[in-house]
Amino acid sequence: MQLTVRRRGGWVRLLLLAAAGMAAGLAFGWGAAGFPAGGGPSPALSSGGGPAVSAGAESVPDAPPPGAKRVCLTFDDGPSRTTPAVLEALADAGVPATFFVVAGESNERYLPLIRQARQEGHEIALHSASHRYSDIYRSADAFWADIELLRERLAPWLEGEEPLCLRFPGGSTNTVSRKYGGDGIMAELKEQAEARGLRWVDWNVSAEDAAGEKLSADAILRNVTEGSAGLENCVVLMHDSPSTGTTAEALPAIIDWYKDNGYAFCTVSQLYDSLA
Ligand code: ZN
Repeated sequence: MQLTVRRRGGWVRLLLLAAAGMAAGLAFGWGAAGFPAGGGPSPALSSGGGPAVSAGAESVPDAPPPGAKRVCLTFDDGPSRTTPAVLEALADAGVPATFFVVAGESNERYLPLIRQARQEGHEIALHSASHRYSDIYRSADAFWADIELLRERLAPWLEGEEPLCLRFPGGSTNTVSRKYGGDGIMAELKEQAEARGLRWVDWNVSAEDAAGEKLSADAILRNVTEGSAGLENCVVLMHDSPSTGTTAEALPAIIDWYKDNGYAFCTVSQLYDSLA
């Protein structure tokens, strides 16, 4: 596995061995200007001097010790009606997660769950307001207008904190965006995200829980554990969208598997900081 981190104008490339010759890329980026040595917030994003990460201040879990194997459980496309069950499974196990959220008309009534997630120690991160590829990938301006709308809709539930992590809908190497914004759109957006001090992140393990057919909890567990074999740092893509009820069902066994295999749980920002 190749893991690339950009920090303060320089690229640090860490090569990690993946099991069975499988190469799984875990891509990160962040803006050199946005994260000064003290880890403060980007001046471009925060005029009030809030914290650099969006995890709730009341019960942020300790970061894993250096050298530990680490796993970030991440959930995209919520909050929705499936989010309470996800939060409950996480609370039962006492582990943190990162939610890459959406905020459209269809999930407006679930947005208060964002405050609950923060209060329970989870990190809230940006995904998209509309999640409509044909709209957000039309142009860079359209993409950032959608992100601004997302920030506005999240603001009542974030109590002044600014999410500084971003996951591009479809991932940073998606090809669907070319159809709407041309070949260079993702490269342009990644550069602009970094210039805005945003930490963007993909994943290197996928539960495949939003792949169309509704998978059983056992199948989701298998996808996650097989995908994690041999990885020191796992960023696991899962979903808390309306159609993914079996993900919450699979979570207790997924969490047990990582615990049994010696992983420490952390948020995406904590993983970032530990790799800096
Ligand atoms: Zn998504």
